[in-house]
Amino acid sequence: MESVDVVVIGGGPAGSTAATLIAKDGHSVVLLERESFPRHQIGESLLPSTVHGVCRILGVSEKIEEAGFTVKRGGHFKWGAGEEPWDFTFGTSSKLEGSTSYAFQVERMRFDQILLDHSRENGVDVRERCEVRDLVLDGGRVRGVVYADASGAEHRVAAKYVVDASGSTGTSHRRLGIRRRYSEFFRNIAVYGYFAGGKRRPEPNSGNIQSIAFEHGWFWYIPLGDDLTSVGAVVDRSAAGLLKGDKAAALRGLIDQCPTVRDNLEGVERVTSGPYGRVRVRKDYSYCDDRFWSPGYVAVGDAACFVDPVFSSGVHLATYSALLSARSVNSCLAGELDEQAGFGEFEARYRREYGLFYEFLVGFYDMNADEDSYFWQARNVAGCGRTDAEAFVELVGGIADAQDLVTQAEEVRRRMASTSARLSQDVRRTQPQAQAGGNPIFSSEVVGDVMGTGLRLQASAMAAETGRVIERPVTAEGLVPSGDGLRWRPPSTPPKAM
Ligand code: FAD
Repeated sequence: MESVDVVVIGGGPAGSTAATLIAKDGHSVVLLERESFPRHQIGESLLPSTVHGVCRILGVSEKIEEAGFTVKRGGHFKWGAGEEPWDFTFGTSSKLEGSTSYAFQVERMRFDQILLDHSRENGVDVRERCEVRDLVLDGGRVRGVVYADASGAEHRVAAKYVVDASGSTGTSHRRLGIRRRYSEFFRNIAVYGYFAGGKRRPEPNSGNIQSIAFEHGWFWYIPLGDDLTSVGAVVDRSAAGLLKGDKAAALRGLIDQCPTVRDNLEGVERVTSGPYGRVRVRKDYSYCDDRFWSPGYVAVGDAACFVDPVFSSGVHLATYSALLSARSVNSCLAGELDEQAGFGEFEARYRREYGLFYEFLVGFYDMNADEDSYFWQARNVAGCGRTDAEAFVELVGGIADAQDLVTQAEEVRRRMASTSARLSQDVRRTQPQAQAGGNPIFSSEVVGDVMGTGLRLQASAMAAETGRVIERPVTAEGLVPSGDGLRWRPPSTPPKAM
């Protein structure tokens, strides 16, 4: 049987990021991807933390910059109390050299291909059209995988660690008896397609995402190129029946009910051929697993959790968790940490980040209190019922005591309501600046908190190039990244010499 240090399942952003960072630390890595790349995927609007943080740590920034993706300076929202739309632009932190106040809107077929090719260039053995069918289990430890190649022939690969980056369709959690909890609050459905152009915001913001609330939910409108716009509606799950029929007609019907998107697309044809030619539906995408690792196994990206498409957190959580997992795998393979310490650090940081976005996004939905709409009434903080809040606290904090759970769930709901109120206030306060092209809610404290990890990640990426460590531990016993960003080390140890 073939034997390697690490097998990675899946070649999306999470898989390629983890694979590259583990190979960079000198380990043998096989990455198994079911599809033949390039393949279509949703998740096209990125955050600066991915572009200037993880991509820089990966050493792939130049290729991403050269790819000519649409520059995203921020977003245009029709969201919250009041009729007026508002804008935000990504702020620059004075601590960061150069301008990191932008991200990209990416065709995922091209973005994911660049990251996967970069893994190959860093020594990862990437095998496309290879589907993992089972985990090899031995006494409660994952020791490899069984996969089928393009001809259907089955193979086994033994590995010291399996990184599961198989996205939302992965099934390893079931095989390992890990419970997946679906969010009641975010249980929406998305229907989306692509249009051959459409209106843009005035320069320099023509590449900005537009998020437009309407009676039945909200739309994303992402300019991917002059002749390509990704347009999707997020609606209540009760619309599932409608979307079983003619999906294109259902999307058109929703667009017609949202004046902003309808006007943006006036006279513009939907793309009907090629990889963008289909109207697609996604559902059951908001969940979090009870455990993110077990002996010999770690789950990253959508294979572990996802919150909601609003505010573009998916690829950030995927690549950030992949970076955290690679540090843990590398430290354990080097014999520097035991698994509990190494993967405990991974899980604590990943859950914390998931939790920050979850709370923020509930508060963000709550801003749009439309009393006449079933969708928005069911998605205010009160709609995040006690059970949902308790499940969330358990998932993020791992609380054991029942009374603590109730108290903390109440505290979480209070914070969500306060997030919503403060955001609404900030939007009102900064409206004049926004109209003058300023930097409104992005400078607000709430958004600053949720973007904090992203900023630290960007600073860390820059520091890694000089061997300086700037991240702090997130728990009392916590660890910090090594100077090159590839492993964990105790905070008291001096930074690794470069
Ligand atoms: P994926 O990108 O799904 O990659 C997983 C890979 O694993 C796939 O290539 C798959 O073929 C492969 N695979 C699966 N099973 C196997 C197997 N058994 N063997 C081998 N290979 C396998 N995020 C954003 O950042 N911005 C957005 O604007 C955004 N919009 C979204 C809109 C919607 C409606 C949804 C549902 C999500 C959105 N997201 C967005 C989230 C984003 O799509 C995901 O978070 C992101 O793609 C996760 O990356 P990943 O690498 O974990 O998984």
